[in-house]
Amino acid sequence: MPAKYKMQIEKITQETEDSKSIILVPAESDDGLFDYMPGQFFTVEAEIMRPKVMAYDRSKEMMVGSGEIVNVTERKAFSAVSSPTEEGYIELLVKSEKGVFAPYFLEQYDVGDFCTLQGPQGRFMANIFQNGEKFVACWSAGSGIPSTVSLMKYAIDKELDLKVIVFDSNKTIEDIIYHERIKEFINQSENFISVFTVTRGGRLPNSNHPRVTHYSGRLWTDGENTLAKHAGGNWRSFFNTICGSSSFINGIGRDDNSKFAKLGDGIEDHLLEFGIPKNKIDKDQYYLQ
Ligand SMILES: Cc1cc2nc3c(=O)[nH]c(=O)nc-3n(C[C@H](O)[C@H](O)[C@H](O)COP(=O)(O)OP(=O)(O)OC[C@H]3O[C@@H](n4cnc5c(N)ncnc54)[C@H](O)[C@@H]3O)c2cc1C
Repeated sequence: MPAKYKMQIEKITQETEDSKSIILVPAESDDGLFDYMPGQFFTVEAEIMRPKVMAYDRSKEMMVGSGEIVNVTERKAFSAVSSPTEEGYIELLVKSEKGVFAPYFLEQYDVGDFCTLQGPQGRFMANIFQNGEKFVACWSAGSGIPSTVSLMKYAIDKELDLKVIVFDSNKTIEDIIYHERIKEFINQSENFISVFTVTRGGRLPNSNHPRVTHYSGRLWTDGENTLAKHAGGNWRSFFNTICGSSSFINGIGRDDNSKFAKLGDGIEDHLLEFGIPKNKIDKDQYYLQ
């Protein structure tokens, strides 16, 4: 059983309209708390107030509450944003998906409040270190970015010989989480490249940085081998981590009847199609959709 830690919120930063980063410091023992690796997650256990009955509303495409307001203790997983090299605190990123926990937690929790973390848990990204991978492509959408940020910071602090390409997909430029931080990391290491894409168009920043690219549209469109385009000749050597919703990873989402079905191709399908073996792909699915 992973250990439990009583934590106090030290800082909250609004990152995008629907996400905040939360810095938590141990309120009691921190024995083993910082023995995590990039890619691992903690379960947040927190008491929130919300309607007694929560049900999925097809027309609104979100969970809608009804009935009296009650106190509930909810448990949800959140990947480490911080790196284990940053001792003394754990940073998490909480993005609302209009579900049963995040909207309430984001609204109700403030600096000084307490909650519990259980962890570290999970094996996402573990094979990077176990297999001594030297080339990593990190594919993320929306809230799937934390582990990539943790890995970049860890690689900088440990001076690892690790090439990282960040492929990060969001609806609009304003939805990119940790946009500035990733660009700062890229300035700190020539081993890093980032490719940001926005799927709903709109404004794109002018980047004159040779290792920061902004695109409009989806990754892997029109038969393009997006990995080869940015990784160059040794694209087959890359270990691929994919993090986000099921629709981003493998194209599974809600159909017109709100049933889960394979609606298209996800990043994993494209990698497999171009012959990347399964043992060069690691996935962290946050939720079905
Ligand atoms: C290993 C792991 C790591 C994670 N790391 C992060 C992270 O770093 N940051 C982050 O923001 N999130 C992370 N998540 C997801 C996180 O746990 C929450 O799911 C997320 O914060 C959204 O919370 P929510 O309360 O808005 O939605 P949730 O209640 O968790 O629901 C998620 C989605 O499923 C739908 N849904 C929920 N219940 C039902 C139901 N009964 N019927 C139909 N649809 C339903 C909701 O409408 C919503 O779209 C991680 C998940 C896992 C498994």
